[in-house]
Amino acid sequence: MKRILIIATGGTIASTEDGAGLAPTLTGKELAARVPLIDTLCDLDFVQPMNIDSTNMRPRDWLSIARVIRDGYDRYDGFVILHGTDTMAYTAAALSYLIQDSDRPIVLTGSQQPMANPFTDAKLNLYHSVLYACDPASRDVSVVFGGKVICGTRARKQRTMSFNAFSSMNFPSLAYVRGGSIVRPAGMGPARRDHGGPRFYDALNERVIVLKLTPELKPTIFGLLKPDYDAVILETFGIGGIPAYDGSYQDAIFDWVDSGRALVVTTQVPEEGLDLGVYEVGHAYAEKDGILKGDDMTTEALVAKTMWALGQTREPAELSRLFYQEVNHDRMPR
Ligand code: ASP
Repeated sequence: MKRILIIATGGTIASTEDGAGLAPTLTGKELAARVPLIDTLCDLDFVQPMNIDSTNMRPRDWLSIARVIRDGYDRYDGFVILHGTDTMAYTAAALSYLIQDSDRPIVLTGSQQPMANPFTDAKLNLYHSVLYACDPASRDVSVVFGGKVICGTRARKQRTMSFNAFSSMNFPSLAYVRGGSIVRPAGMGPARRDHGGPRFYDALNERVIVLKLTPELKPTIFGLLKPDYDAVILETFGIGGIPAYDGSYQDAIFDWVDSGRALVVTTQVPEEGLDLGVYEVGHAYAEKDGILKGDDMTTEALVAKTMWALGQTREPAELSRLFYQEVNHDRMPR
């Protein structure tokens, strides 16, 4: 029988109500005990590095979870992380960079309703996650939720209440759970890559901020961010528009980059990605050294990848190499 480690971190799935709002109290073992037939799938072990609302999850917590997986890597066939849904996409992306080319599945799941709710989605999500983690063709980091398996770098929480909370952004779902089977669409098969085993990383630079352009946002914001941040992920308009009415944005952005800080350009439109070359209002940034292009990546993955890449280097050429290398299907180059 396979051995799966359940890493319970909290979230709605583990939450109970004490009169002051839902908060996580149940352990991973208590949660699994409420899921029928889960013990027929594999042997389960449990570890509880934290029990928190994922609103409180920080990069240091991603590193703790990655450490638990690294320490247990040789003893388990797969890992299922129970996690709040609100920041699950960030953690899934972060783990995709911290543990690359894993031949063991690392699955994140949670629920929209607490396990104690009679109409909860928690039981099926947890059962499906363990089922997927036991499947011999599963590998790398993914989110299993609402009957879908989404690549860890492509997940986004799109709905606050529905059971299909997560979408796979700009990339097909890896698989579906139908009854008791994992169904993999054509081309989404095991694709075993021979990279000589997993690569673990243990450094992140959390001085990364997302800035969303809004009409009349003052470009002086870049100067104000300098003391606290090493990188800005800039969510531009449309396919890559940055206001050009008086040149002040270009001055502020070029000054940011020339000061040795990183600028990642992406779009605030959820689907289909960025192309700075299309409009005159993006053109100046397309070829500027030091500006990194987010292409079709999610903002969640861009945050995690920038933290990971800046955790390895500040040297511009190496930063760009790390940023543009494809990890866990995170980007489709144009
Ligand atoms: N606030 C909860 C969390 O992210 C929401 C959930 O798990 O669905 O921890």
